[in-house]
Amino acid sequence: MVEKVVYFIEGDGIGPEVWAAGRPVLDAAVAKAYGGEKKLVWKELLAGEKALRETGENLPQATLDALKGAELAMKGPLGTPVGKGFRSLNVTLRQMFDLYACIRPIKYFPGIESPVKHPERVDMVVFRENTEDVYAGIEWAAGTPEARRIVAFLRDEMGAKLDDLAAIGIKPMTEKGCKRLARRAVKFAIDQKRTSVTLVHKGNIMKYTEGGFRAWGYEMAASEFGQFTMTEAEAAEGATKPVVIKDRIADAMFQEALIRPEKYSVIATTNLNGDYISDALAAQVGGLGLAPGVNMSDTLAFFEATHGTAPTIAGKDMANPGSLILSGAMLLEHLGWFEAAQLVHGAVAAAIGARTVTVDLASQIEGAKAVGCKQFGEILQANL
Ligand code: NAD
Repeated sequence: MVEKVVYFIEGDGIGPEVWAAGRPVLDAAVAKAYGGEKKLVWKELLAGEKALRETGENLPQATLDALKGAELAMKGPLGTPVGKGFRSLNVTLRQMFDLYACIRPIKYFPGIESPVKHPERVDMVVFRENTEDVYAGIEWAAGTPEARRIVAFLRDEMGAKLDDLAAIGIKPMTEKGCKRLARRAVKFAIDQKRTSVTLVHKGNIMKYTEGGFRAWGYEMAASEFGQFTMTEAEAAEGATKPVVIKDRIADAMFQEALIRPEKYSVIATTNLNGDYISDALAAQVGGLGLAPGVNMSDTLAFFEATHGTAPTIAGKDMANPGSLILSGAMLLEHLGWFEAAQLVHGAVAAAIGARTVTVDLASQIEGAKAVGCKQFGEILQANL
């Protein structure tokens, strides 16, 4: 019997409902696929409002201690109270545990309304760098003494042409940060038998930051995975290796995603590009509400429903547990439990095909019948 411990955070708002509907689906898929040979062992950790109620803190030390030694964790959405002096718990967790790779698979479920003619051609997994770039939070507002000081330094000592009143944001990108993201993407492509990794960047304009990402990505792939990878140029010359490493400039990549999505499989990209492209691709397949995700460090894979707490529908049995359930399917794939993951994907596809879905999806599927969150979970279990 193989048992894998998964720490879970229920989350705020619709969190408890989507967990109540979703977790039994994952357990049932594992039971069906392996007949008791494999099992997920769930251990709850407190965070957010529930933690505040029960312990007086929204991110208790016990949660942090457990996550320090954890390999697998999964969370529902955590609210960010506005103007109460709290930092976002999601951002805090990402920073504390160095969850540097944000991974989002994007695939179409037949039946869902999409804005494009051939959404089924999209089957990509986006690896977004999660810690560097303009998201590092190094910024100064226009006209502040700090911004003026930086402007003066850049202009007087570095020869930059800059307006006195410029707002300033810094875009740090390191070889280590870029390579570890690209490494994960290439390793994933090799392990999961994907045929290409595309480095998406704006290196034509930002030569040392975005251009660095491109150069370091190629360099890492050649030196660490040379046996399995080749460049497009090498492929054109007749090389045959399992994974092609290519690169595209971000704006061209957005065009390609619409025109020739079938040419792309794994995308590795910087933080800001990745933010845009993950959501654009999810929208392209009509699946923003279903999108699963994971944030990873070198030791911890932290799966999450990508939506928020949906406060207006919380407690009304209207939420769609799909994002959480598909995040669970990612967890199963991460463990190599592909049979169970496949069952979950099949069950979601069958529910969508039969047009019995939660209210948010029903509005995207002609002739669909809306069911509650709990019932949707039960339908998925029956579909396994
Ligand atoms: P939201 O995702 O909660 O809601 C956006 C819209 O989508 C709403 O109309 C909501 O009803 C709907 N929606 C979201 N998830 C749904 C689901 N599973 N089923 C059906 N409908 C769903 O985004 P928001 O309103 O901007 O944020 C609300 C709170 O959630 C904020 O406190 C925000 O900080 C937090 N948030 C957390 C995460 C996270 O934990 N990863 C992500 C985004 C937002």
